[in-house]
Amino acid sequence: MTPGPGHPHADTADSKRDAWSRFQSSALLRNVSASPLLRHGAMLALWVLVWQLARLVEYTEHASVWFPVAGLTFALLLLGGMRAVPALVGGCVLVTLWIAADYGIALGKLELVCAGLAFAAAHIGSYAIGACCLRAVAARSHGSLPELVVGFLLIAAFSSLLATATGLWALVATKMMPLADVSATWLPYWIGDMAGVIVLAPLFTSLLSSLRPGGMARLAASISLEHQAATPRFKYKLLLTLALLAGSMWLAHATRSPNSAFAIFFLVIPYMWIACTESAFYNLLGVALGSFIIALLVHVLALKEFVMVYQFAINVIAANTLFGLALPSLIADNIKLRRLADTDSLTQAASRDCLEQRALLDIIRCRQQHLPLALIVFDIDHFKSINDRYGHAVGDKALKHVCLMAQQALRPADMLGRFGGDEFVALMPGNDRAAAIAIAERIRVHVNESELEGVHPITASFGIADLHEGDTYESLFARADQALYKAKQEGRNRAAWLAA
Ligand code: GH3
Ligand code: MG
Repeated sequence: MTPGPGHPHADTADSKRDAWSRFQSSALLRNVSASPLLRHGAMLALWVLVWQLARLVEYTEHASVWFPVAGLTFALLLLGGMRAVPALVGGCVLVTLWIAADYGIALGKLELVCAGLAFAAAHIGSYAIGACCLRAVAARSHGSLPELVVGFLLIAAFSSLLATATGLWALVATKMMPLADVSATWLPYWIGDMAGVIVLAPLFTSLLSSLRPGGMARLAASISLEHQAATPRFKYKLLLTLALLAGSMWLAHATRSPNSAFAIFFLVIPYMWIACTESAFYNLLGVALGSFIIALLVHVLALKEFVMVYQFAINVIAANTLFGLALPSLIADNIKLRRLADTDSLTQAASRDCLEQRALLDIIRCRQQHLPLALIVFDIDHFKSINDRYGHAVGDKALKHVCLMAQQALRPADMLGRFGGDEFVALMPGNDRAAAIAIAERIRVHVNESELEGVHPITASFGIADLHEGDTYESLFARADQALYKAKQEGRNRAAWLAA
């Protein structure tokens, strides 16, 4: 449907989506995709550009508040596999030359290229293992978002730890870093890398897979990162969140107290609000923006002494948002499971457990409101012979058919459940024994008169009981069951009840 002129937000969202679609189908993108050289060049340029973002927020040599390029490496390996490796190796060597010039490391050209290759092996190898593991988790989780989120967070933690251990080893072995610096560097290196992966790998995966749908389209679909439009309120929610972010960091700047630095963790609340109300893509965008601003403000407001608090906060906010995104699908799964547990799969009548739970509540309610309650237990006559003569499939149809006949005779407030085999229970709150006898008779006649694919007339027998003082569900059911036995004894195809 095309939104009318009275829907300015829909117009803006649509025009943004149109611009994105135009970019997706642009000649530039087609040319870049078609030529391997251009494709690798574009990947390399993007990687170096994103690496520069980390340099902006570097607070000690080799350690930044977050390391976004780790997220890009992870996403490229996830989507492109080995095809992404040449561009990534080129990027690693290039930035090693760059760092050496910046930090004044006196190594020869060949030694620097070797250092770059060693860093590439550590960085790319670690995230390639992570990407492989995530592919395996995605294949096994069959689209279950909660499983994918837990798997991704664990993989992000372990692959970034591996990247830290091997990366530091490579830096020390190639004389890019003195061994003495390792103890002070490993934790910020790890947390910064992990933040880069958790915050940005899903966002880059979403963006890159929509630019070049291919082998991993199923994974992108299973993380459901479609470019859905943001709600009209998204920008206000984001502004409020970013204002809170800036306010809490300014507080830490003004008071210089570690206690006030911890105020940043309150951000999980507005981010959870966004997670519960906005699409996955805009959540990832919001978290990426927030974490970049946190990293930037650590520099601008000179909060280096609290940097670990902010690094942990970025990770906690991003992980929390990912869990928040998984919640709706977890709730939907639970509803589906509940429905399965409450319903008999063949007849769609209530399951025995569900009926018993409802009966317990109805008994309490009817007692409180001084209302009667009646129960009918009924069973198809000589059902075994239907199975024997016409086969099990027809027997199943007969069960469904009898169930349908009974449903048609009951009110919406009544509940029909399958007790097991060919035995059913109708729970009728508000009905006394006389009403139950009349309803049982109606079901009996319906069943008798109806036809089912040439099956000789189906009949059923009914036992009726009403709630007495001091009754439990068990005693009420037992009386109705005895009455059913009586109906069978008296010749079947009839209703019976025990004398009061
Ligand atoms: P009665 O008149 O005394 O009730 O005789 P009956 O032959 O109906 O005996 P009973 O109620 O004990 O038979 C139940 C049969 O229902 C036994 C079992 O093979 C069959 N049955 C149980 N569950 C199913 C089912 O889901 N589908 C089919 N087709 N048959 C079932
Ligand atoms: Mg039977």
